[in-house]
Amino acid sequence: MPKGRALGFGTRAVHTGEEPDFSSFGDVNAPIHLSSTFARRETGKPTAGLEYSRTGNPTRLALEKRLASLEGADHALAFSSGMAAETTLLMSVLSKGDHVVAENDLYGGTVRLFERTLAKFGVSFTYVDSRRPEAVEGALKRNTRVVWLESPTNPLMHVCDLRKICAIGSSAGAVTVVDNTFASPFLQNPLELGATVVAHSTTKFIGGHSDVIGGALMTSDSRLYESVKFNQNAIGAVPSPFDCYLLLRGSKTLHLRMKRHSENAAAVAEFLFRHPRFSAVHYPGLKSHPERALAMRQMRMPGGMLSAEMKGGIKEVERFLSRLRLFSVAESLGGVESLVEHPATMTHASLPKERRESLGIGDGLVRFSVGVEDAEDLIADLRAALR
Ligand SMILES: *Cc1c(COP(=O)(O)O)cnc(C)c1O
Repeated sequence: MPKGRALGFGTRAVHTGEEPDFSSFGDVNAPIHLSSTFARRETGKPTAGLEYSRTGNPTRLALEKRLASLEGADHALAFSSGMAAETTLLMSVLSKGDHVVAENDLYGGTVRLFERTLAKFGVSFTYVDSRRPEAVEGALKRNTRVVWLESPTNPLMHVCDLRKICAIGSSAGAVTVVDNTFASPFLQNPLELGATVVAHSTTKFIGGHSDVIGGALMTSDSRLYESVKFNQNAIGAVPSPFDCYLLLRGSKTLHLRMKRHSENAAAVAEFLFRHPRFSAVHYPGLKSHPERALAMRQMRMPGGMLSAEMKGGIKEVERFLSRLRLFSVAESLGGVESLVEHPATMTHASLPKERRESLGIGDGLVRFSVGVEDAEDLIADLRAALR
C-alpha cells in the first residue's frame, strides 16, 4: 500500500487488509483460512501469533483491518452478528447497577436485548428522543455508563446531532456508542464526531448482498478495545472464516453501492412524496425532513433507507405490498435488491402497541430499503402497485 498520504475511502475499501502476501502465493484476495487451530514449532511460540480460531483467525484479522480503516478507527472486532457485537460490547462495559441512556427509536432487537436480557443483570435503561440533546443531558444519572445512539433511526429516519450528544455523554464519563448500520461507514463516521465506539450489523450495507449475518465494533480507545477483545474470545460469538470472506468481498464495493442506494432512494422518496396515497415521507434528503441540514452536515449522502405513511390503514398497505414485483416484502436491509416491509407487523411487532404508537410507528407506515437496480424500474413497480 502506498504510504505518506491518507488513502481515499474507495481505495481502502478495495485494498486494506488484503495486501498480496508475497511470502506465499501473492493472492490478491485474503485466503479463507479454514483451520480451527495453528501448529507451532516451539510450545511457547504461537506461529504468527495465532493459536486457535476463536481467539484469532487470519481471514478475520484481514476483515478487522478493513473495517477499522473504513470507520477511521485504530481497532475493529468482528462478530457473528450485529447482536453478538452489541452483547459483547455491553458485557464488557456494564456492571450490575449501571444505567444506560438510549435513543427511543432504536432497532427493535437492541431494545429486546436491553429489556429482556440485560435488565435481568441489574442494568437500567432510560429512553429519550435524542433529536433534543438536552433530553439526553437530562436523563444522565450518576451511574450512567453508556449513551446509545442511532442516526438515522429505524424506521422513522430521525437524525440526531451526534457531535453534540457525544460531547455531553463523554463529559459525564459515559461510553458513547453509535449504531451506524443505517448510514454505513461510507456515509457517516461517528468516531470523527466524538463517539467512543461504532457498532455495525455488517449483515446490512457492509455485506451488501443479503447473504451473510455479521457484526462489528470499531474504536480508537485502546483500553476499551482490549477489554472487548478479551470478551470476543471469552464469549466466543465470532464469525466463520467464510463469513469473513463474504464481508471482505462485499465491502470492496461499499462506496459504489452507497452512491447508487442514495440516488435511487432520493428518486423513490420524491415519487412517494408527490403520490396522493401517501401523507408523509421520512427521508433525510427531502426538503421536508426537519433535520435535513444536520443530516447534510454529518452524512456524506442521505442513504438508501426511507419510510412513508400510507393513507387508509392496514388493508391498503397489504394490498400495496402484495402487488409489488421488484421490491420483495422482507425484513432486513442494505442489500443490492430492493426490500419493503411493514414495521407494525414485522420488524417492530415485538414492541407493545402503545409504545409503537407513541413513537409514531402507525399501521400505515411502510419502510423501504432501496436497492441498486434502475430507478425508473423501481418507480414503475411502485406506480403499478399503487394503481
Ligand atoms: C440488523 C440490525 C442490527 C442487528 O444486527 P444482526 O446482524 O441482525 O444481528 C442492529 N442494529 C441495526 C440498526 C440493524 O439494522
